[in-house]
Amino acid sequence: MSSNSPSPAVTGPTPGAASDTRPETTARKAISLSGVSQRYGSGASAVTAVGPVDLDVTEGEFLVLVGASGCGKSTLLRLIAGFEPPTAGEVLVGGAAPVPGVTSGVVFQQPRLFPWRTVGGNIDLALKYARVPRSERPARRDELLARVGLTDTADRRIWEISGGQQQRVAIARALAAETSLLLLDEPFAALDALTRETLQEDVRSVSADLGRINVFVTHSAEEAAFLGSRIVVLTSRPGTVALDLASPIPRMGVTADEVRDSPEYTVLRTQIATAVKEAAVAGTSAGGARS
Ligand code: ADP
Ligand code: MG
Repeated sequence: MSSNSPSPAVTGPTPGAASDTRPETTARKAISLSGVSQRYGSGASAVTAVGPVDLDVTEGEFLVLVGASGCGKSTLLRLIAGFEPPTAGEVLVGGAAPVPGVTSGVVFQQPRLFPWRTVGGNIDLALKYARVPRSERPARRDELLARVGLTDTADRRIWEISGGQQQRVAIARALAAETSLLLLDEPFAALDALTRETLQEDVRSVSADLGRINVFVTHSAEEAAFLGSRIVVLTSRPGTVALDLASPIPRMGVTADEVRDSPEYTVLRTQIATAVKEAAVAGTSAGGARS
C-alpha cells in the first residue's frame, strides 16, 4: 500500500470472522455463548442485565462489544472471564467453563495495580501467580515491558507514572499469564484523547501477532472501528446482539494513520455509531420490557 495516498483503501487479504473457514481443531480456544442470560436480584426488583446472547468467537479474532452505558457489556465480559456463572445458558471457553485468572487475562477501566511496587515488581508478581519459574521471570518481564513500551520505566513506582503508563502495566500484567483470552473492559475510557489513541494503536499492533482472542468492551464507535476484526453492537438492557460485523480492515501491514484515513474505517465507524444509536432508541421505546 502506498503511504502517500491521501485516502488509502485498506481492504486487504485479512477478512474478519464471517469468512473464517479454519477447521474446528484450530479453533479450540474459541468462546461459545449459547442462550446466555444474566439476571440480578429477585422478585419485582429483578433486572435482566444481558441476554439471551448466542455468540461464537474463534482464535485470533479481535472482538469489540459496543453499546450504550448500562447495556450489559461488563456483565457479558465477566461471564466470559468466569467471574460469575450465567443465570441461564452456557459459557464455554475452549470447550470448558472459564476459570478466573486461568482462562483469561483481564484489563479493567482502572489499572488496579500495587501502587507501592515498581512497574517491574507488578509484572514479577503476575508472573509468580502465573507459575512462571523464578529463573525465567526476569526475561519474561523484560519482554512484556518491551511489548508495551515500558522498558525504561521498570524501576519506577506505580504512583510515579502517568495514567496511560499505568494502563500499559495493566496490559502487560494481563499478558503475563499467557492465557488464551485477553479481556479488556473500557481500558482507555479514563485517559485523555491523545494517550487513548496511542494505546489503541499499541493494542492493535500487539494483538495482531499474539493469536489470542481479544474481547474489548467500549461505548465508542471510533474505538470499535479502529480495533475490531469483528464488531458486535449490543441493544440497550438487556443486552442482546443487535449487529454482528466483520471488519474489512486488515490487521497487519497498515499503519494507524492509514486505517483512520481510509474510507472503510469511516464507513464502519458510521455504521457502528448508527447501530448503537438505534439500539438505544429501541431500548427506550421498549419501556417495561427492559427489565
Ligand atoms: P455496561 O458495562 O454496558 O455499562 P453493566 O454490565 O455494568 O453495563 O450493567 C448492565 C445492567 O446490569 C445495569 O443496569 C446494571 O445496573 C446491572 N447490574 C450489573 N451488575 C449488577 C449486579 N451485580 N447487581 C445488580 N445489577 C447489576
Ligand atoms: Mg461497563
